[in-house]
Amino acid sequence: MAVEQTLILLKPDCVQRGLVGKVVARLEERGLQLSGLKMMHLNKAKCDEHYAHLTAKPFYPGLVSFMTSSPIVAMVVSGPEAVKVVRDMCGPTNARNAAPGTIRGDFSLSTQYNIIHASDSLETAVKEVARFFHKEELFAWERKMDALTAAPDEKK
Ligand code: UDP
Ligand code: MG
Repeated sequence: MAVEQTLILLKPDCVQRGLVGKVVARLEERGLQLSGLKMMHLNKAKCDEHYAHLTAKPFYPGLVSFMTSSPIVAMVVSGPEAVKVVRDMCGPTNARNAAPGTIRGDFSLSTQYNIIHASDSLETAVKEVARFFHKEELFAWERKMDALTAAPDEKK
C-alpha cells in the first residue's frame, strides 16, 4: 500500500454553507494528513481544464457558473490509498444516492451542489494536484501521531 496524495476541492456550496471546518475535520479525523490548503477563486479557464471530460454535457454551463460563483477551498491530503479512501468518504456524485455517513450523504441533496470534488484515480490525482498547487505550496511534514494512523507496512 502506497501513501498517495489526492486533490480535494470544497465547492462554493460548502464554503457558502459554512461546512468547510466540518469537512476538513472528517478528513483529519480519519487520519489523512494535510499537505496543502488554500482558498481561491476558480476561473472559467481552470474550470474548463479541470472538467474537460464534461464540457459537452448539457449541465456544464450551469456547473461552470456554480463553480466560479464564489471562492472554493483547494486541499491536498496524503495517506495510505488516499485517493480511494477520500472518494469513498465523499460518496457518489448524486448526493441523494449517497449513504449517510458519507460527506455528500450527510451534507447535500444535490447532484451539482455536492460539496466536494475528489480525484478519481491516482493518475488523475497526480495531474490535479499539479493543476492546483505549486510545489512550494505543498508541505511534507512529520506528523507526530503518524505511528498510530496505520501500520508501517501500509505506509510504504
Ligand atoms: N455534475 C452535474 N450534473 C451531473 C453530473 C455531474 O452537475 O449530471 C457536476 C457535479 O458537481 C459533479 C461534477 O459535475 O461533482 C463532476 O462530475 P463527475 O462525473 O466527475 O462527478 P464526481 O467525480 O464529482 O463524483
Ligand atoms: Mg469526477
